[in-house]
Amino acid sequence: MLDGKTAVVTGAAKGIGKAIALAFAKEGCNIVLNYHSSVSEETIQEIEACGVKCLPVQGDVSDFKFAGDLIKQAKKEFGSVDILVNNAGITRDMLLMRMSEEEFDCVINTNLKGCFNMVRHVSSVMLKQRSGSIINMSSVVGVMGNAGQANYAASKAGVIGLTKSTAKELAQRGITCNAIAPGFVETDMTAILSEEQKAAMLDVIPLKRYGTAEDIASVAVFLAKHTYITGQVINVDGGMVI
Ligand code: NAP
Repeated sequence: MLDGKTAVVTGAAKGIGKAIALAFAKEGCNIVLNYHSSVSEETIQEIEACGVKCLPVQGDVSDFKFAGDLIKQAKKEFGSVDILVNNAGITRDMLLMRMSEEEFDCVINTNLKGCFNMVRHVSSVMLKQRSGSIINMSSVVGVMGNAGQANYAASKAGVIGLTKSTAKELAQRGITCNAIAPGFVETDMTAILSEEQKAAMLDVIPLKRYGTAEDIASVAVFLAKHTYITGQVINVDGGMVI
């Protein structure tokens, strides 16, 4: 179903983003792989070994102009932009009382404004195409809140509002927009947590295992294939939020 389509994945050099890029490549999609600091040659080769093309593009999604250039490059290289996965994200955890303005702003700028920037620019391409699938990475923390993550929770709750509004605005042209809310996935982002913090997490996961990047990637592929699901937040969290 996705063979020959173009998927743009932000923050795709590692972790969940890399797994998503690979999952779409296995479905036959050409990949526009946005990375922030660096991407390994092996990652590009792994994607191209699926028999598709991979265009790596370095840049910061919180930069409105860069987001526009990324979409332009994708369209120029592959002729269409069928799937956009807004995966790029950061944390700067701190208790609210001690959180600096910079810690709040940079998380909002990357996670929420970055997502807006990409949706804003891809929407004109998808509106002309009269098709497209946008998948935004939220988090269970955006649904539940979390002590020490007021900035991150606000950004991920904002992503949910952005997703639902985008779904309503673009539905008339056959474009879907959904969010995925992962629970605890073992990546570099969660590697900074202590063993005690990780054990406490496991305690509140009914399925008693951490998520994998592939658990999230398979749901992104599912959402891109289903043209009658829009405006939804899919929790992929082992039952953390029931
Ligand atoms: P990760 O391993 O830290 O990967 C995040 C990626 O985003 C990195 O490649 C990073 O690149 C990139 N990135 C950061 N700032 C960027 C920017 N301004 N522009 C472009 N790319 C940028 O984290 P992950 O666990 O795979 O997380 C992926 C997404 O899932 C994030 O949105 C995260 O909030 C969400 N999520 C993760 C979990 C979890 O448990 N892991 C749970 C819920 C939601 P650099 O390293 O080069 O900066």
